[in-house]
Amino acid sequence: MGTAIVVGSGPNGLAAAITLARAGLEVTVLEAADEIGGGTRTSEAIVPGLLHDHCSAIHPMAVGSPFLRSLDLERYGLSWAWAPIDCAHPLDDGTAAVLLRSVGDTAAGLGPDGRAWRLLFERTVADYDHTSTDILRPLLRVPRHPLRLARFGLPALAPASTLAGMFRTEQARALFGGVAAHAFQPLHRPLSASIGLGILTAGHAYGWAVARGGSRKISEAMAAVLTDLGGKIETGVHVRSLSQLPSARLTMWDVVPTAIADILGEQLPTRIIKAYCNFRYGPGAFKVDFAVHEGVPWTATGAHRAGTVHLGGTFREIAAHERDIHHGRMPERPFVLVGQQYLADPQRSVGDIHPVWTYAHVPHGYTGDATEAVIAQIERFAPGFRDRIVGTAVRSTTGFADDNPNYVGGNIMTGAKDIPQLLFGPRITLQPYDIGVPGHYLCSAATPPGPGAHGMCGANAARRALRRAGIAEPAPLT
Ligand SMILES: Cc1cc2nc3c(=O)[nH]c(=O)nc-3n(C[C@H](O)[C@H](O)[C@H](O)COP(=O)(O)OP(=O)(O)OC[C@H]3O[C@@H](n4cnc5c(N)ncnc54)[C@H](O)[C@@H]3O)c2cc1C
Repeated sequence: MGTAIVVGSGPNGLAAAITLARAGLEVTVLEAADEIGGGTRTSEAIVPGLLHDHCSAIHPMAVGSPFLRSLDLERYGLSWAWAPIDCAHPLDDGTAAVLLRSVGDTAAGLGPDGRAWRLLFERTVADYDHTSTDILRPLLRVPRHPLRLARFGLPALAPASTLAGMFRTEQARALFGGVAAHAFQPLHRPLSASIGLGILTAGHAYGWAVARGGSRKISEAMAAVLTDLGGKIETGVHVRSLSQLPSARLTMWDVVPTAIADILGEQLPTRIIKAYCNFRYGPGAFKVDFAVHEGVPWTATGAHRAGTVHLGGTFREIAAHERDIHHGRMPERPFVLVGQQYLADPQRSVGDIHPVWTYAHVPHGYTGDATEAVIAQIERFAPGFRDRIVGTAVRSTTGFADDNPNYVGGNIMTGAKDIPQLLFGPRITLQPYDIGVPGHYLCSAATPPGPGAHGMCGANAARRALRRAGIAEPAPLT
């Protein structure tokens, strides 16, 4: 059947490798880092035994991924766990809006806004297993479930600020806004609600799960599937030139478009080099991992049991800060995401010292130190937090880029999710995985359906590559 090379072992590289290996190709994955997994790595950074996820932490999209579900990763050691509360959003008055797995239970906690929450999510969550087959692939296709897709897609076209206007209470608006802010986009822009709606819908369908033992268990399980299929992985190989690669029938690139332009250079058609050189990267992340004695002393009770806590105050405040970082200004109180994965997966703690995962939204390539801003934002909703800190590990925007060439300027979304890049991917085309060089395909989160540890970009790209090579695809995914 022939050989295939996959450059990069993030979840999309591994998904592409597995899809090609299932079709009978002899696959080798080349990874720049010493460890596989890209955005799904976990290590002990501060206290021996305390487990910190480097990047991805919370996985509604992975649990609900049609591709990952088809692999039966539980047989390869992956198991999911859920905190009692999916997400809490505390406010300055000491209350917190709370997101629960069930739409009804979440709505019940939102008082007068319960009805609007139900209206937004009840039907789309029931439809999720159908609509996900349309959402988790290039959007500009004839939909398989047009009516269901329309029910999801119409609200998704709106700015997040318009949807937030459906709610009367500060709590519901903030809860929605905190999730919408995952898009790293100004919240008044059309389509800025879409990523948040996707996460909330998948979350209500599958819960905000963490991988027991850390997110690395996702890539370890995928690597085990690949090995079972005869695939190989080599680490410590940073591919900078085509001459480093053996000839292969298919080559899949789990990298960013600008890297493809550098590596393949003039082999690419001029229009594609131009498009890739103009690829846009969005704001960055500044990460602070904490070892915390007895956990975070939140004022709001809901936050104590929440796997994720969003810190940024009201919708209006978060929207202002997202606008600031988009314009290259560092806000005094940036939006901060806090992960308390140990609540679902206690083996990550050491006695009563717990790993607390946080990152702040900062401007692209921000060179300052946001550690104090992160601590201050946590103190705002959890006075006394500072005194419980046992140790910290910091990753700046440059630290992210050094650790993984795909996180340019600390942009953890693998490219700005503005309107064209969200709708089309890295260039305006109906074939976002094609790079214009026969046998070569882009498969990273720069392609549809975009970021998240779900492997769908890699699986879609590999299926496209197989079709074009005239090789029978593996059995359709359920
Ligand atoms: C701080 C942070 C928090 C996140 N939180 C979540 C979350 O909670 N839930 C979620 O679902 N997602 C989350 N994500 C996003 C998720 O991790 C990514 O979208 C996902 O990992 C993208 O997968 P990928 O395979 O496209 O790329 P990556 O995971 O980035 O992997 C790319 C791999 O390719 C390698 N590589 C790149 N260039 C080369 C080269 N030239 N030669 C050889 N190897 C190369 C890199 O070293 C890397 O290992 C988060 C990301 C970060 C950083």
